[in-house]
Order: sequence, then structure tokens, then C-alpha cells
Amino acid sequence: MSDWLQIDRPILPPASCILCGGGIGGPVIDTRRDIPLLPDGGRVYACRTCMKLGAVLFGFAPGEALDELHEAGALLEAVQAQIEEHRELHAQSEAAIAELLASLKERDEELELAHGSVAQLQAALNRVREDTMAQLEAVAPVHGSPMESGSPMEKDDYPTEEDA
Ligand SMILES: [Zn+2]
Repeated sequence: MSDWLQIDRPILPPASCILCGGGIGGPVIDTRRDIPLLPDGGRVYACRTCMKLGAVLFGFAPGEALDELHEAGALLEAVQAQIEEHRELHAQSEAAIAELLASLKERDEELELAHGSVAQLQAALNRVREDTMAQLEAVAPVHGSPMESGSPMEKDDYPTEEDA
């Protein structure tokens, strides 16, 4: 395998493609071959345009397919961005669902508390009813409510009602 590297831009002198003098802004292939070009030395870089031309001339890839490959990188980035976006939306949906579930649980608990209160009220009402009945029983032990016909003080009326 080659020890060539693709780098963002050429750094060592002459900091450009050895073949065409371009590729200054990069990206370029760093062949990692030094050349005694300048007092500080130099590096053999090759730009994309030259590498593509060489590949086409050598018949390694048809021109159109190579163009597609060049575009494939950008396409891949776009697809990855979409995947990331969907992932984010999915996470947001999950958070919303969790929030809804929490809210439902809270309402369930409130409802349970409300049911408890109703039961307590019902029990209290039953006690009041029983107390009232007991008090009424104490006031009129045999004939129920004193509010029934006639005055409860007229004792002569009672036997009549009892016989009826
Ligand atoms: Zn070049």
C-alpha cells in the first residue's frame, strides 16, 4: 500500500502541485516524497485535477464515473446530514412521548386522589345520615319523623296511626 495521504492543503515548499503548479488551496495528495528543490527542501504534492486526468488517461476510470465519484463525497455528506436531522427529530419525538406519559401518570394520580376524597366525603355523609337518624330516633323512638302529620305533642293521635 502507498503511504500517500490526502491533505487539506499543501504546506511544505513549493506548497503546490508538482505537475501543474496548482492545488494551492488544496486538497492535494501528499506523496511524502521530499525533493531538494529549495534550501529548506520540498515536498511532492499532486492536485485533484492532475490525479483525475492521470486516472482517466490510464483508463482506471471513465471520466463520467469519476465525476460521479467526486460528487459522491458531497452526496454522502448531505445524506449524513439528513440522517443526523432525522435522528434529532426522533429524539425530540421520544422526549415529547415521555412528557405525555409523565403527564398522564400525574393525571392518574390526581384522579386517584379525587376518588379517595369522594370516598371520604361519602363516608362522612353516611356518618351524618346515621347520626341524624339516631337523633331522630331519640326524639321520636317509635313513629319516625316528628314532621309527620299532626303535632307530636298530641299523644292521643299516636295509637290511631299505629293501628292504621
Ligand atoms: Zn496539478
